[in-house]
Amino acid sequence: MSVRAHHHGETAAGAAGHSGPTTMPTSGPLVDRYGRVHDDLRISVTDRCNLRCVYCMPDEGMSFLPRRDLLSFAEIERVARVARGLGVDAIRLTGGEPLVRRGLVELVSALSSLGFADIAMTTNAMQLAGVAPQLAAAGLKRVNVSCDSLRPDRFASIRRRGELSTVLGAMDVAEACGLTPLKVNVVLMRGRNDDEILDFAAFARQTGRVVRFIEFMPLDAQGEWGPEQLVPGREVRDRIHEVYPLEAVSGPDRVAPAERLRFRDGRGEIGLISTVSEPFCGTCNRLRLTADGSIRNCLFSDEDHQLRDVLRSGGGDEEIAMILRRAVWAKFPGHAINEPDFLRPHHSMSMIGG
Ligand code: SAM
Repeated sequence: MSVRAHHHGETAAGAAGHSGPTTMPTSGPLVDRYGRVHDDLRISVTDRCNLRCVYCMPDEGMSFLPRRDLLSFAEIERVARVARGLGVDAIRLTGGEPLVRRGLVELVSALSSLGFADIAMTTNAMQLAGVAPQLAAAGLKRVNVSCDSLRPDRFASIRRRGELSTVLGAMDVAEACGLTPLKVNVVLMRGRNDDEILDFAAFARQTGRVVRFIEFMPLDAQGEWGPEQLVPGREVRDRIHEVYPLEAVSGPDRVAPAERLRFRDGRGEIGLISTVSEPFCGTCNRLRLTADGSIRNCLFSDEDHQLRDVLRSGGGDEEIAMILRRAVWAKFPGHAINEPDFLRPHHSMSMIGG
């Protein structure tokens, strides 16, 4: 387990206030030292993917976990059940690409019987159309579909595999199955797709889908991220606002990472996920279960709280609960990306689960 001292930075942008408990609670919700309650669990079901998006993986040569290292569905369900007992009420399935893991519908069914208020999935939608009805019937509530360009050739150059028409078709099917509100994740990269900001705004207006512009984060497996490739959320907001006036949406969704904005004429909504330029760590409520069974308290942490060995050596629910509590308690106030001594985590997005 490696911990980077600079992550402790009390001055980290977006840091939480110091209103939390002074000792780790052994009952009640999953709360950290800064008073942040963790009720949202992201579950990566695989590190594998059928695409090779430029901001995530190299075209060739990505190595993946051996099958035996992945948690089984029964193991995932067990962790989710314990988390539910600790107040977690939202689950998101992610990866890698969750739909490349066989039998995902059964996992959704099992999770939905545990009583979560929300079960969602983030997907590249290459295999979504065929399975959307079964996923909805099994209890999946909604999907976020990644789509970084509305131009077929551009789409192909960013994602390297698959076709835009497959993704757009899958969005229609998902909506017809009630997997709504459908959100569209767009990772913006300077000089690559930032000339499509207004096209995506128009798309949001035409379709009613919530387009979320995500800042490129230093989590690509190739290590090619640089701040010059970042398109700050503020710039996106200004460019859209000039053409289609926007206003803030205030609502109960306070802890969502996206800054929600709607078009003033009432025709649709966008979101800005400005992880790098405007960190929202102060309201972070997320925990992550990696495909190989570790708990991560932050995308940018290098600290693994291993659960798999405990699960496989007969550990009890109490032991699992304590690992979840310790992982939350160890969370730093902020991700510190913008501090001079920031070190990238060794794990990339597809390994942690985005
Ligand atoms: N395969 C699924 C998909 O494409 O949606 C789920 C996993 S993917 C890692 C989850 C989200 O992370 C996607 O919206 C993807 O665009 C985003 N993502 C991946 N690498 C990123 C990076 N370096 N910076 C910002 N977002 C990234």
